[in-house]
Amino acid sequence: MMLEPTPCDLLVMGDLILTLDAQDSVMSNGAVAVADRRIVDIGPADELHARWAPAEMIDGKDRIVMPGLVNVHNHTPLMVTRGMIEDIGFAPMYTPSIPQGHWLTEDDAFALSSLGMYELLRAGCTTVVDYYRYPGACARAAADLGLRAVIAGRVHDAEPAALTTGRYEYSRAVGEESLRENAELIERWNGHDGGRIRCDWAPHAPDTCSDDLLREVSRLAERHGGNIHTHLCQLPLEVETVAARSGLTPPQLLDKLGLLNERLIAAHCIHMEPADIELCGRAGITVAHAPIGNAKGGRIAPIMELREAGARIALCTDTSSGDLIETMRWAIAMQRINRQGSVLDARTVLDWGTREGARALGLGEVVGSLEIGKRADMILLDNRSPSLVPMVDGYGVLVHSASGHDVDTVVIDGRVVLANGHPTLVDGDAIVARAQAVASSLWQRAGRRTVQ
Ligand SMILES: [Zn+2]
Repeated sequence: MMLEPTPCDLLVMGDLILTLDAQDSVMSNGAVAVADRRIVDIGPADELHARWAPAEMIDGKDRIVMPGLVNVHNHTPLMVTRGMIEDIGFAPMYTPSIPQGHWLTEDDAFALSSLGMYELLRAGCTTVVDYYRYPGACARAAADLGLRAVIAGRVHDAEPAALTTGRYEYSRAVGEESLRENAELIERWNGHDGGRIRCDWAPHAPDTCSDDLLREVSRLAERHGGNIHTHLCQLPLEVETVAARSGLTPPQLLDKLGLLNERLIAAHCIHMEPADIELCGRAGITVAHAPIGNAKGGRIAPIMELREAGARIALCTDTSSGDLIETMRWAIAMQRINRQGSVLDARTVLDWGTREGARALGLGEVVGSLEIGKRADMILLDNRSPSLVPMVDGYGVLVHSASGHDVDTVVIDGRVVLANGHPTLVDGDAIVARAQAVASSLWQRAGRRTVQ
């Protein structure tokens, strides 16, 4: 006797399904059934067709279906400096004559964050970490586009204007304002839409935060739970400043103040002595690895050493683009240069950009692979793209040849938020036009006329 099919919300089919589960299950002509935001079934398309009666269906012809990508460190309003900062300086906060965060209005931050979030979504990032000034604007941008996001403020007490000229002036007023902004963000946005938007604390860096401020963030983050996001050993200036101030290295300082632990997601981790690497590894921190940004600054982070010492590695684009696939192959290339040998492979860095990122964020049971019970976050790539041929093991061509532009459909929490390259919940063209207008006016203020 044939059983009646069970109603479900969505059935996603695909020529090829890469689950990235523990068994590395791959299936051709497969399907994923979704109900109540979660994956309820995965298997051969004909079997799922018989078992489920979906309200909505994606036919998945000529498509590869895989888990959404997890991008663990960004500052979307900094999109305004992209394409210029790379040839002028390194981190915007330390660079004069470019638009600065303290020039932005909240509306500007929202316009620029929307651009960044749109780009991340368009490139298949389904879970993104973002922190900056006006974090409420970043949360709203992510919420509007349908992204899963972890948002934080940018806590610091170094005066931004002094910092761009290389001086450190710690101001209690600046610190309190940034703490208030992060606290208000958590109050307003943490847990939004069934937990799709989560909020954490983010002290900017060991040099831009005084010891007192770091101690205060440590206390607040302990009470709040979640992750702590920061920059660590990003610049020689940071290491020198912390050493002059406290006689410690930045990791030693964070350790002393209770911040160096498995909840810490530290971007960059470049300028580290072997003892720092050991300390970070033992503490089980996560490194938010940004190989492209590091390389543009002429630097390579000791990622393999950190990993061997026990640190977790996750990936980020750090606002240089939304393309985490590009980041994966850069991670491989930079470590092969650093180690003068064939370290790392496609499958490992794909894991960093999916499951490891999810685990770092405490979302290991929630996203990062396609498995029954997990939230339905998945991306579809067009396998007619010449960049995706030849498909042999499923991973090599994806990491070494594909790009975010091959993503054409994105499902987050069981909802189709990008269809045929277009966002379904917002007007993508309007986001782009508004961001260009805001950027043009900010660059004009920095003394630079834009061509558009
Ligand atoms: Zn950063």
